[in-house]
Amino acid sequence: MRSHYCGLVNEKLVGQEVTICGWVHRRRDHGGVIFLDMRDREGIAQVVVDPDTEQSFATAERVRSEFVLQIKGIVRDRPEGTINDDMRTGKIEILGKDVTVLNAAETPPFPLDDYNDVGEDTRLKYRFMDLRRPEMLNKLIFRSKVTSHIRNFLDQNGFMDVETPILTRATPEGARDYLVPSRTHGGNFFALPQSPQLFKQLLMVSGVDRYYQIAKCFRDEDLRADRQPEFTQVDLEMSYMDENAIMTMMEGAIASMFKELLDVDLGAFPRMPYAEAMNKYGSDKPDLRIPLEIIDVADLMASIDFKVFAGPAKDPKGRVAALKVPGGAKLSRKQIDEYTKFVGIYGARGLAWIKVNELEKGTEGLQSPIVKFLGDDVALAIMDRLGAQNGDIVFFGADKAKIVNEALGALRCKLGEDLDLYTCAWAPMWVVDFPMFEELDDGGLTAIHHPFTAPSCSPSELKDNPAAALSRAYDMVLNGTELGGGSIRIHDGAMQSTVFDILGISEAEQANKFGFLLDALKFGCPPHGGLAFGLDRLVMLMTGASSIREVIAFPKTQSATCVLTKAPGEVDSKQLRELSIRVRLPESEKPES
Ligand code: ASP
Repeated sequence: MRSHYCGLVNEKLVGQEVTICGWVHRRRDHGGVIFLDMRDREGIAQVVVDPDTEQSFATAERVRSEFVLQIKGIVRDRPEGTINDDMRTGKIEILGKDVTVLNAAETPPFPLDDYNDVGEDTRLKYRFMDLRRPEMLNKLIFRSKVTSHIRNFLDQNGFMDVETPILTRATPEGARDYLVPSRTHGGNFFALPQSPQLFKQLLMVSGVDRYYQIAKCFRDEDLRADRQPEFTQVDLEMSYMDENAIMTMMEGAIASMFKELLDVDLGAFPRMPYAEAMNKYGSDKPDLRIPLEIIDVADLMASIDFKVFAGPAKDPKGRVAALKVPGGAKLSRKQIDEYTKFVGIYGARGLAWIKVNELEKGTEGLQSPIVKFLGDDVALAIMDRLGAQNGDIVFFGADKAKIVNEALGALRCKLGEDLDLYTCAWAPMWVVDFPMFEELDDGGLTAIHHPFTAPSCSPSELKDNPAAALSRAYDMVLNGTELGGGSIRIHDGAMQSTVFDILGISEAEQANKFGFLLDALKFGCPPHGGLAFGLDRLVMLMTGASSIREVIAFPKTQSATCVLTKAPGEVDSKQLRELSIRVRLPESEKPES
């Protein structure tokens, strides 16, 4: 039906006849001639229809925005003074000869040529129109380039694309499962995979050696910001490679992608132990574009009278730390109050601060509500440790270590953004040496990565002191966002059972839930490891999109629904009966009768 995409008609075609198809982006009637901006996936071309071509002119007169047209015409140079250098097709126009309406369109729910934010619900309800907007379509095009780059890279490195089941059993990644009732086995349920973790490990046992899959994963998580119940991972697993080899290869994949698609050199990927990341940045995904560091001052505070600091300083689970912001003394009282509110989100009960006005005057030169409680010696010792200079502000956190890390870690990022402290555009890194386990509120342990991650110690050392064990896990972080994570896996049955034991999974439960894995480990499982990248996150960062919903064709809302198809929806009672299911809504969710 067409000879060229609208957006690809260019000056090389001047004098030639072309046929384009697309939507009417905009129609302008310039008394006598009609201009039609025609749009398709590749961009926009300007078509001029003049009254000499009577029938086409009559058609052009009645078309409206978003009508679908086929136009045959001759490419010509734009007249002097009308060249538009901002447009790919801005040097030419098409003199329309035959204009055919392929389909009409009602008035769009929002204008596409002069788009104003109409709210996400409307955009999602009419997603098929929203995606017509070049801004949105370009993100999908970019996403497709990312997956194509990844596939090429992995093909060249000997990876095999293998699909794994969607209807499966629970694969623990720390979220709730989406369940699918079985009709043929009433009362039994499939779980949608939280990740292909166990299948990809089994593929290593089978000899696939290098596996990848662009895999949909499903996690029924509490509605935290910017998560999707179904999302896409670039999932990888490799035999006979240690963490160093895996990290090096994956850096290559990401760095070559940034070079090819964005012309960005990512540079080195420093590797930082988890403990250092938490200590200096209060986060296991530090944003290294920001030069601020959190510094411990508990030892200086332990013996002062002021309980707010002395209490956590003496508590083995506490932390007292400071964050120095060069030039921050110019922050107003109001701004400081806002930061105090901000750290409150993370559980901090306040935000103490010291402005460094004239350090040469000793504590006289410090402006702060807390110096009097610290005493001169302690206040000056802190200034000394931080290397404070006139014009700086120092913020303090004193509480349980978890709260201080989260609060000061988030404050560090917020200050970095608000005060534009970034030292570079991209800061990739690896976080390594994670602890194996994390303590739950009830005193039990849970795996920080997942229970199939290998510890760095022997089974007996692990059993003796699980809380101190480190794992062979690694996370790739870019600009404070976790791009991907993985680990070297346990390939030995005894070690796997030890980890299950520590997690409180009984032998019977191990056999029931993970019998197939324990079986597989008995039959010559090669040492292996892997990781998974979050594709949505990666594309979001690369395109500068504000949320992952912007880079997913048909995302769910923040409350895990699809407003376009109205999913999830009710099903009729016959279907439920076939599935042996009776629905019992909690009182609060019963429809009013
Ligand atoms: N399955 C892991 C995850 O989804 C990634 C990995 O360990 O390869 O986070």
